[in-house]
Amino acid sequence: MDSGTMAELPWLDAQVGQLRRARLAGRFAPALLIHDQRGAGGLWLAHRAAQLLLCRGESPPCGRCRDCRLFLAAQHPDFIGVGPIEDSRVIRVEQIRELGEQLSLTAHGGGATVAVIAPADALNANAANALLKTLEEPRAGVSLVLVASVPSRLPATVLSRCQRIEVQAPTRAQSLRWLEQQRGQAPWNAVLDVIGNAPLEAMALDPAEFGRLASETFAALTGIATGRRELTGLAERWARAEDFELRLACIETWLTACIDRAAGAPGQSPELRTGAHLPESSWDMNIAALLRLLQGAYELRSLRLTSINRSVALEQLLWQLPRTVQVAAVS
Ligand SMILES: [Zn+2]
Repeated sequence: MDSGTMAELPWLDAQVGQLRRARLAGRFAPALLIHDQRGAGGLWLAHRAAQLLLCRGESPPCGRCRDCRLFLAAQHPDFIGVGPIEDSRVIRVEQIRELGEQLSLTAHGGGATVAVIAPADALNANAANALLKTLEEPRAGVSLVLVASVPSRLPATVLSRCQRIEVQAPTRAQSLRWLEQQRGQAPWNAVLDVIGNAPLEAMALDPAEFGRLASETFAALTGIATGRRELTGLAERWARAEDFELRLACIETWLTACIDRAAGAPGQSPELRTGAHLPESSWDMNIAALLRLLQGAYELRSLRLTSINRSVALEQLLWQLPRTVQVAAVS
């Protein structure tokens, strides 16, 4: 994602203003932790912070100076981005050691050097410890920006060295307005019903394709819960696919719809309610068991970056589905 070619995120105006004031006053924290909410723009803010630090124009980030132009073209020699590489879900210790070496060198352009680590909660334990060394002895002019949606996964020793900045998800209205500006009219509300107010995640999706994935997932869950569909193979297939997180979001949505239905609360938006394969009124549902399953789904999502066996964890979760739903009148 590119902070220059990408539209502004109006719900982050306050945070951008705070960083700009710190930059102008020469008191930008050497280590910043952006506590992101999923899809709310934490990485965008990290890139904006980097541009602010690298820009040597009069009112940073000017967008016109040589540093800004290099940064926006993803070619700035003193900007380093670190994230999981290839198929890995974690950031490895070798990557952080290499970063430490790069940061110990003088900046190519004689100005600031900025490293963005995202998602920082993907640092494994050794990598986090290696990072601590860099945080303890920062070279002048070096800034580290960490982006994490679950900062508690980082050691306290790392957290205590970072100034924290919070990124809140925008409201539903803000998200919808922004998505329509960026991508035009589409059933964005239905997408956000499932993935939550995460407009940057929604932006990366094809709404029609996502709609198909959601319907298929809801149908499969209904089939499993009512005993009309076999579970075998399904969990493994879902867990292996690239859209695993979206599946989990669909599972959470479906479970929440069950809980709302069982509690007699009309919690879902009209768009979602018209979707096929959502719980039927003839179902007798065990709310306590559904809540446990929902909790299990949240945990699975927060653990997705770890080395857990996704397929086994998902199968264990879905295995419990038939016991949470008694179908009063199966046709
Ligand atoms: Zn500039």
